[in-house]
Amino acid sequence: MGIVPIMLEAPVEGRDFPGSLPELRAWFRSDADCVDYLDWLRWPDGFVCPWCADVGDWSATASIYRCNGCRRRVSVTSQTVFHRTRTPLTVWFEAAWLKMVSKQGLSALNLQRVTDLGSYQTAWTMTHKLRTVMSQSGRKRLTGQIEIDETYVGGAGKPGLTGRGAAGKTLVAGAVERRGRGMGRARLQVIADASSASLEIFLRDHVTLGATVITDAWRSYPAATAAAGVAHEVRNVSASVQPAHVSLPGVHRLFSLSKRVLEGTYQGSVQPEHLQAYLDEFVFRFNRRNSHTRGMLFLRLLESAVAGHPAPYTDLAVIHRKPRLVPVPPQAPHALPRTLTGPPLKRPWRSARAAQSWQLHG
Ligand SMILES: [Zn+2]
Repeated sequence: MGIVPIMLEAPVEGRDFPGSLPELRAWFRSDADCVDYLDWLRWPDGFVCPWCADVGDWSATASIYRCNGCRRRVSVTSQTVFHRTRTPLTVWFEAAWLKMVSKQGLSALNLQRVTDLGSYQTAWTMTHKLRTVMSQSGRKRLTGQIEIDETYVGGAGKPGLTGRGAAGKTLVAGAVERRGRGMGRARLQVIADASSASLEIFLRDHVTLGATVITDAWRSYPAATAAAGVAHEVRNVSASVQPAHVSLPGVHRLFSLSKRVLEGTYQGSVQPEHLQAYLDEFVFRFNRRNSHTRGMLFLRLLESAVAGHPAPYTDLAVIHRKPRLVPVPPQAPHALPRTLTGPPLKRPWRSARAAQSWQLHG
């Protein structure tokens, strides 16, 4: 058997993803439209059972599949971030759009105002679930030459305590690929401390075996890099005439950009427990900064959303020890809307080519 050529065609605005908010609203007028779009993204080549990976042997009524392998009933939102949501998918889609088009992110309060959601709790849960999607996507380890450093984030500014060992702040490790004179993909991770053991875990999680890591002369790096199986180059920042942002320009640019976004969008009010989620959101955007349009980011977010796993609210509400469990009244029928059985609306994403041809990009 010969090698099957894979056509890698980029998604097209106006066909595969909407180009504007009016277009989004015109495309997704009902939950049925949203269900169909998610179905198209999740199973471009037809249904695959998320429980038993059975393919092809199923029956479907109104977008509920029944797997003949394990007999389970599976909807397109089963085992995704939209699992058993009481919020209409049209609202989810608008939230995803707003999150992706807002340059620096979207706070729960802004989402509540813009989408007219009755409950702040609902808006908060949605923004955090979308952020969870972002942190689960793109977990391929970094390759090539990678700049790595650590920085402190948050806490009250304490002059003189800005280096390693600053109190009341959260330590974050950063990594960014060098690509010629520019930057490739990045990672930001909260770490316990700057010890060899902590940095080794960071390297194992985010750097490909055999890659080359470039750091300053911090004493933990030789042991950490050796243990993680990566090559190590040292830029001796303190001994050099060049300041840190010249010796390790990529990772310092990453730090300053991410801090600017945290301060700009959330006025520095990010709880340390949630810092990782906000960093993940920043990295999601950073790693897709060359996506040609914001609409493509929306597509990538939904693509990751149907590939991920549900995040129960109880997992997210770590700061509210006893969350006020005010029942959110359903704003739309729980069951799939009746319109599913009606004539399909014009759905540009259902044109000839399957989503599969460009999902391989992701
Ligand atoms: Zn099954």
